[in-house]
Amino acid sequence: MEDRWVFMNGKYVKQTEASVSIFDHGFLYGDGVFEGIRVYEGNVFRLKEHLERLYESARSILLEIPYPIGELEKYVLETVQRNRLTNAYIRLVVSRGVGELCLDPSKCSDPQVIIIADQVKMFPKEMYDKGLKVVTVPTRRNIPDALNPKIKSLNYLNNVLVKIEANQAGVGEALMLNSDGYVAEGSGDNIFIIKRGRLYTPPCYVGALDGITRQAIMDLCKRLGYQVIEEPFTRHDVFVADECFLTGTAAEVIAVVDVDGRKIGDGQPGPITRHLLQEFRKLVTVDGSKVYSEVGVDSKS
Ligand code: PMP
Repeated sequence: MEDRWVFMNGKYVKQTEASVSIFDHGFLYGDGVFEGIRVYEGNVFRLKEHLERLYESARSILLEIPYPIGELEKYVLETVQRNRLTNAYIRLVVSRGVGELCLDPSKCSDPQVIIIADQVKMFPKEMYDKGLKVVTVPTRRNIPDALNPKIKSLNYLNNVLVKIEANQAGVGEALMLNSDGYVAEGSGDNIFIIKRGRLYTPPCYVGALDGITRQAIMDLCKRLGYQVIEEPFTRHDVFVADECFLTGTAAEVIAVVDVDGRKIGDGQPGPITRHLLQEFRKLVTVDGSKVYSEVGVDSKS
C-alpha cells in the first residue's frame, strides 16, 4: 500500500504516521462530522457543495471548524495534488478533538481536521450492468428529533446496523424505513423510484441525507426534462415502480432490480436509470473544483 500524504490540522504527514488520540471524542463518542467526496479526472465533484454541507453539519452540532471554508477547499485540492491522484476518494473528517472520559465536550478545545485522499474502491462493474438486489430491514432511520439524518455526523451506528442486516441477507445494500413506515434511504445512499416516466424521491424530512448526488440527479432531470417529485412513499410504491435506483458519492447512480424478493420493472436496469447514469458520468468530470497540476491549472479547466 502506498504511503500517502494526509492533511492533519494544517500539516501534511505520511499516512503511516498519522494518528489520532484515544481520547478524541470522535473516537470515543462519534462526536464529529465528515464528508466523502470523489475526484474524477482531476475534478473534485461538487466540492463547494460538500464543504457547505460539512460546515452546516458542524454548525448544527456546535462544532467550530477552525478554518474558513475557502481555506479548507484549498487544503482538499492540495491533498489530492500532493498524492498525484486524478481519480480519488476523499474522506474529510472533523472531530471534536481530545477531551475527558466523559460525554461533556466543553473540555475539547482542539477540533481535529483530517483529509485523506485514496484510490477509489469502485463497486464491481457488473453491479452497474445488472443492478442491485436490496432488502428493507427492521432497523428504522434515526428520527430527526433525535439525530437529524441531514447531519452527516461521525455517529453512523444506525447505518452500520443496516449494513450488517444487508450483509446477513446476502445483498449489496438495504433500505431503511422511517418510524412512520415511509422509505427513507439506503445505509449510504439516497433512493429514487420511477413510475410512468416521473421520478420520486423522499423529501429529507422523511429521514434522508441531503445527498450531493441526489441534488445532481435532480439538476440533471431538470435539464433533461424529467419531472422529479419529492414526496414520501412506502415499500409498496417501490415494489410497483417501473424503475428504482440509488445515488451516492460511492454508489454514483446504481439501478435496483429487486426489493424484498419483488422484481422491479422487468428486473433489469431501466432506460431512464441508464440514461441518468450516462449523463451523470459526463457531469462528474466538469462540475466542481479543479485540482491544480504541477504545470498549472488542470488542462480540462
Ligand atoms: N445517505 C447516507 C446516509 C449517506 O451516507 C450518503 C453518502 N454520503 C448518501 C445518502 C448519499 O449522499 P451523497 O450523494 O452526498 O454522497
